Amino acid sequence: MRVLKFGGTSVANATNLKLVAEIITNQHKAGDPIIAVVSAFSGITDLLLRMVDAAQNSDKSYLADFLEFTTKTKTVASDLLSDNQYNLIVGELEQNHEKLKNLLAGVYLIQEASPKSKDFVVSFGERNCAFILSHYLRDLGHDANYLDARDYIKTDSSFGSAVVDFDLTNSIIKEKLGNTKNIIIATGFIGSDKRSGVTTTLGRGGSDYSASIFAAALDASVLEIWTDVDGVLTSDPRKVTKAYSIPKLSYLEAAEMSHFGAKVLYAPTIKPVKDKSIPTYIKNTFNPDHPGTLIHKGTDENQKFISGISSINSVALISLEGSGMQGVPGMAYRFFKCIADGKINVIMITQASSEHSICIAVSNNDTGRAKEKIEAEFDIELQRKVINPLAITNDLCLLAIIGANMKNSPGVAGKLFHTLGKNEINIEAIAQGSSELNITFAISEKDESRALNSIHDSFFLSKYKTIHLYIVGVGLIGSTLIKQILNNKKNILEESHIELSVCGLSNSRKMVFADDGLDINEYSNLLSKSEEPSGIENFIEHVIADKHINKIFVDNTASKIIPEYYARLLSNNIAISTPNKIALSSGLHQYKKLKELSFSMNVPLNFETNVGAGLPVISTLKSLTTSGDKIHKIEATLSGSVSYIFNNFSSKENFHDIVLKAKEMGLTEPDPREDLSGADVKRKLLILSRECGFNIEGSAISIKDILSEDCLVATSVESFFSLLEKDQQRFKEMIVKAESQNKRLRFIATYENGEGRIGLQEVDNTNPFYSLSGSDNMIVISSERYSSTPLVIRGPGAGAEVTAAGILAEIISIGKHL
Ligand code: ADP
Ligand code: ASP
Ligand code: MG
Repeated sequence: MRVLKFGGTSVANATNLKLVAEIITNQHKAGDPIIAVVSAFSGITDLLLRMVDAAQNSDKSYLADFLEFTTKTKTVASDLLSDNQYNLIVGELEQNHEKLKNLLAGVYLIQEASPKSKDFVVSFGERNCAFILSHYLRDLGHDANYLDARDYIKTDSSFGSAVVDFDLTNSIIKEKLGNTKNIIIATGFIGSDKRSGVTTTLGRGGSDYSASIFAAALDASVLEIWTDVDGVLTSDPRKVTKAYSIPKLSYLEAAEMSHFGAKVLYAPTIKPVKDKSIPTYIKNTFNPDHPGTLIHKGTDENQKFISGISSINSVALISLEGSGMQGVPGMAYRFFKCIADGKINVIMITQASSEHSICIAVSNNDTGRAKEKIEAEFDIELQRKVINPLAITNDLCLLAIIGANMKNSPGVAGKLFHTLGKNEINIEAIAQGSSELNITFAISEKDESRALNSIHDSFFLSKYKTIHLYIVGVGLIGSTLIKQILNNKKNILEESHIELSVCGLSNSRKMVFADDGLDINEYSNLLSKSEEPSGIENFIEHVIADKHINKIFVDNTASKIIPEYYARLLSNNIAISTPNKIALSSGLHQYKKLKELSFSMNVPLNFETNVGAGLPVISTLKSLTTSGDKIHKIEATLSGSVSYIFNNFSSKENFHDIVLKAKEMGLTEPDPREDLSGADVKRKLLILSRECGFNIEGSAISIKDILSEDCLVATSVESFFSLLEKDQQRFKEMIVKAESQNKRLRFIATYENGEGRIGLQEVDNTNPFYSLSGSDNMIVISSERYSSTPLVIRGPGAGAEVTAAGILAEIISIGKHL
């Protein structure tokens, strides 16, 4: 005997029912008798409950719901069945529907629906489905019979969630079905009261349980639960996108997973099959070739420490605390007794060994009742103030990591709490059963997704980590970065085990988002087609609200506004990588605030490309200072464009012409004065000095202007150039003088003894800057360690390719840290 169960989605419509029939008949071909237990078509139980509630509230909309129900039933029947079969059963369906209609009319009149009548109303869902499917199998020529489980599964009268009388139920099933040879299509979910015979139900999702009851009673060779996912997954796929199917679970692990919220399996289902050691498969009706999950006796030795992660929402913690609890026997007994009297389900219990408090987790809905019961029980102690007023925290989520291999494996809890800590998730309470099958903890509901995903990543996806990027600015640097991400994606995955997913992108006009990553091949199309106008406030809100973990915000702009949001991003656990110099070179207070925030939150704020583009300048200074070196002096040419100009300027050239050429080659800003004024170099020197640990403001750095006052104040770029032409003689004299002494002119930024200076210097051939060529940057660092010969970093310090490569390297290094 094989028992199969098909859930709501599997039987949702005629098309799906045909797949179901195929699975049943294929299995029957081998000669095995089959009991197939079915749910109602998906959504029907909710619809039936809604209509009875509406009728009870004198809301006539129940009639529209009723019509929807009957129409749906008949549509499925007529789509599925031959005309003959349809005509054979339509009368009986209609008669049944008439009974339901009368019952609802009664409820409407008396404005009352007892749990008993609700159970009866919902029973129509499973009954219709099983009835229609059994006739379809007959249509296909099989000897299939409809079975109303109310005649078999006998329960008490706890309507809504009835308790099965196994002795009676098992003997009825064995007696009536023991000799089954063919196919039986049975209703899931419903049973009947053993005394009165009235309809009861086994709790929402109870069809799984019905199937398990049949399987156990008949010592079936297998139970197969056919649903809409590839088995029990490592976590709820609606909450964890990377969840994947678990090949094998022990009965206990499966029970823990379902107890802690894995909807795929109704928790009571496990016990009957476990008692009989019946192998139970969870399979996908829509992907029948997938092996699904086998739930069986043993544990899989090769499995990871944890098998799955589950969560339950809308939970409250109630804690009873006070000096009167310590060493007083019977307190726990009284506490749990009054909770049990209130029929309140306790999901988790923790007690500190100091015995100063007991804490339980219950459903949010039960807190009122629990409070009433506990306060009544401990009235005297509360009045005497030996017990504190009850502490109740609502809207929590319970998360459980589950796995038989956790037992005796040190480090699982450490890894778990490290992951939570790193993601700034606060734990309200923790419990671990001595069986070590699960560790359960309570966190705020708002942290659920982050917790699930980060734990999932650290326990299941250690092979690679997904880093979610939110990029603002797709100008020259931004677009080059995107191109480089595209070209290196595969490589980065293989070498660094990091998957880069661009989830948000904005230019100055539009923005786009995609939870599972944008197709960045198409990024400019996506942006131009987007209906969402850009707005930094909205962009930031979106990034913060995004459920992902491992988020990096990349600011590729030179905007003064965007850095105002950095603190917010860091506080929300979002790392930052940016070539934008504004944030770190504004007031010292702002610099310190951001650095401290990044440190205290342990969230990277990296800006290597602020100085020298892709050259490793900041990171080198950092590694010197963190390893105890003391920086004495920094001398640097920090502007690629100014470098180019002076590296090429000689007495044979006109200064004006060289500046114009640099501009035409795109090496300078559109207004070259932005480079030549030294303002940009000043920002860089400020950042470098601060990174060496010198707390300086911009006012500590002076600039000796290269340009004349007239040139600096000229109102247009054209007039600047004509004034520069007039000022040529001054430059000519400077270079002639330098050359006559065998020296060269270099625009050097120096930091030493608390002060910065920026200006032109004549350097001789013993000076490292003498040999500088092209548009190279050079940074010369003298320190305690590098005192006789300074440490020199030299290379191209500007250009989109090297800058973007620097950002990409930074993203990967942040990714490794996250
Ligand atoms: P059925 O109607 O077939 O009984 P359910 O909706 O009751 O199906 O259960 C299947 C659903 O359970 C899946 O579609 C999935 O969204 C949800 N689910 C939650 N947690 C898990 C998990 N750990 N593994 C698989 N599915 C899960
Ligand atoms: N139809 C019932 C429900 O929706 C039982 C089930 O699907 O298992 O809860
Ligand atoms: Mg279900």
